[in-house]
Order: sequence, then C-alpha cells, then structure tokens
Amino acid sequence: MSYFELPEPRRGRCPFCDNVAGRETEGGVGCAVVLETDLTLTFVEPRRKHPGRLLVISKRHAPTLLDLTDEEAAAIMRDTRRAALAVTRAFEPDGLTIYQNNGVGAGHEIPHVHMHVVPRYHDDAGANPRKGSVIPYEERAEVAARIKLFIE
Ligand SMILES: [Zn+2]
Repeated sequence: MSYFELPEPRRGRCPFCDNVAGRETEGGVGCAVVLETDLTLTFVEPRRKHPGRLLVISKRHAPTLLDLTDEEAAAIMRDTRRAALAVTRAFEPDGLTIYQNNGVGAGHEIPHVHMHVVPRYHDDAGANPRKGSVIPYEERAEVAARIKLFIE
C-alpha cells in the first residue's frame, strides 16, 4: 500500500528490478552502470539525450522515497552526491539539477524509487526533456566509463 497513486509497471515487470538483476528490461535495455553498492545502483539514463544524465536507484524494489528504510535513503543520498561529483568532474556542466518524483501526481513514471542526476548546460532544453528512443548501449557505456574515472 502506497501513499500515492503509482504508475502501473508494464505487464508486471519492473525495469529497474531487471537492471538490478543484471537483466535487460522488457524493452531490451541493458544498463550502463556507473556505481554499484550494497544498497544502490547508479547508471546512465537510457532514454534522455543529456550528456552525463544519471539515475540512482535502490536495489530493493521500493516504489517511493517514503517506502525506503533510513539506511537506504541515506545510501541513495550518499551515492547521489558521489555520482553528482563525478559527473561534474567528467563533463564540467554549467550547473546540476537533482530531483526525485513520488506518485503519478508528481510525474512519477517507473514505480521504483530513483533519483535523477542532471548536469545542466546553458543551452539545454531544461532538466526534464521528453524521453526519446533508447540511446545505444555502447554510447551509454562510453559515458559510464568516463564518469567512473571520477567516482571516489
Ligand atoms: Zn523494481
């Protein structure tokens, strides 16, 4: 039971749980991992063309921030900061937007808690451009490798 109306996972499969398990999602999306810890997984956002854009998720399936344990919430914030620092060093953006949605009313799309790490550029189209087609895995893996060099 959640506090909010949540998006329905497509045909019962959670793509982020697939990512945690190392499987491709139903849509055939492999995960370009930047950082994995015991409680979190950080990877390149597969559908938004935005250099260095990342998602930080809990490994356990928890729909919203309110469903996390204190330990998971702390780990997500710790690793969000680590990822943000690394992406800033790797891409030298003009700014950084960090956000997290809970419930359909907030624009939540995949009902598994995730933090958006968005490097911002003076000429970008805003922090939340429309999702496009899946960025090829090789391209995302290159971005992940570049960011990994700066993970502390
Ligand atoms: Zn999940």
